[in-house]
Amino acid sequence: MQTSFTLAQLADPNIAEADRILRTCVHCGFCTATCPTYVLLGDELDSPRGRIYLIKDMLEHDRPASAEVVKHIDRCLSCLACMTTCPSGVHYMHLVDHARAHIENTYARPRVDRLLRALLARVLPNNDLLRRALAAARLGKPFAGLFAALGLKPVAAMLRLAPAQLPAKFAGSGRRLFPPSAPRRGRVALLTGCVSPVIAPAINAAAIRVLTRHGIEVVVADEGCCGSLVHHMGRAPEALSAARRQIDAWTAEIEGEGLDAILVTASGCGTTVKDYGYLLRTDETYAAKALRVSRLAKDISEYLSGLELSSERDPAGLVVAYHSACSLQHGQKIARAPKELLCKIGFVVKDVPEGHLCCGSAGTYNMLQPELARRLRERKVGNIEKLKPDVIAAGNIGCMTQIAAGTVIPVVHTVELIDWATGGPEPEALAGKRGSNAAAAPVALAK
Ligand code: SF4
Ligand code: SF4
Repeated sequence: MQTSFTLAQLADPNIAEADRILRTCVHCGFCTATCPTYVLLGDELDSPRGRIYLIKDMLEHDRPASAEVVKHIDRCLSCLACMTTCPSGVHYMHLVDHARAHIENTYARPRVDRLLRALLARVLPNNDLLRRALAAARLGKPFAGLFAALGLKPVAAMLRLAPAQLPAKFAGSGRRLFPPSAPRRGRVALLTGCVSPVIAPAINAAAIRVLTRHGIEVVVADEGCCGSLVHHMGRAPEALSAARRQIDAWTAEIEGEGLDAILVTASGCGTTVKDYGYLLRTDETYAAKALRVSRLAKDISEYLSGLELSSERDPAGLVVAYHSACSLQHGQKIARAPKELLCKIGFVVKDVPEGHLCCGSAGTYNMLQPELARRLRERKVGNIEKLKPDVIAAGNIGCMTQIAAGTVIPVVHTVELIDWATGGPEPEALAGKRGSNAAAAPVALAK
């Protein structure tokens, strides 16, 4: 694609990068076939190619974002299916991230929209605020229909997505060390994240048990949110300060006792941590440290694939529908590892038809675009239920919450099944909430 940025514009490294990306697009339109919003809406402007044109036009003319551009970019899930399909290697993720930041800086959203976004950006990354908000949302659940009727559909969506019950808090706080219970083979950091420890602490607890059982020392040293949620809302300064906080915490570990990897159990977060090197490439103080962190970042399934797992329990042919989270299959290009792990330890794993299409979760998307998210969930759940699985497994808390809101089939994280099969407790969702989130005992460490 030809571009016509001026030399002055190209002096901005973000514009220079956008120009490089735009020039790789050859307008072929292959990406439209796998774009969930184009599949649903059939509008070229809701396809990757259409959005690329909108972004090009906005940036080349150095224009503030218009309501039209905002509408179509907001509808993009950042699922990155287009990147998997594109034969020219267009880095749509970096382009749309830049467009979202431009929108945030130049467009005045309607007041209610602004307030909602500010609320989500403040509450979701903060464990304590999120816990309190979810407790309040439980009381508000019966009024979800009323909020929808008043035109406050995002509020209704938030209330509907709030879990009916909150699990107990993940044990401990601050920097914690989980020593291996087998001869030591390695040392990793585990990202706790923001939403996951509040609504599904069993996931990280299962990851810690699997790792320590196989001789891996685990340190939880991070500062909570990785910045991914706000990054996808275009709130670049908040995202970058969250990234810097995490980088500082992990750098202290790397330069202290050393780390073999930085593990992430939420693939949406993993995609962002793996991108820290790019996000902070122009920050003289952080560029090198960010790149080092990104290179160490791994999804939990990616890391476990390199270990010889000891199978302690025969899952007796339990049928698992594996939902491949977009951030894992498209963002990190990890599609086979989780399925192979599950098969190896005795589960019967089935691929979900139309597995390339997003479930509609996409960070805050299911709250900010509830109608499209609902349609995508119904399509996803329909495809899953055709398989008649005993359980659904996914590697991202956002997808788990989104899918669980549309089906009675239990939904678990892949690592919970691996933990169970290698000697851990049965996942709560399978055991009728028997309570399985007791992690290995941590050793408290000074900051
Ligand atoms: S990221 Fe997903 S929703 Fe957005 S343009 Fe690409 S395929 Fe479509
Ligand atoms: S598939 Fe790639 S090159 Fe073709 S239109 Fe889409 S983004 Fe452009």
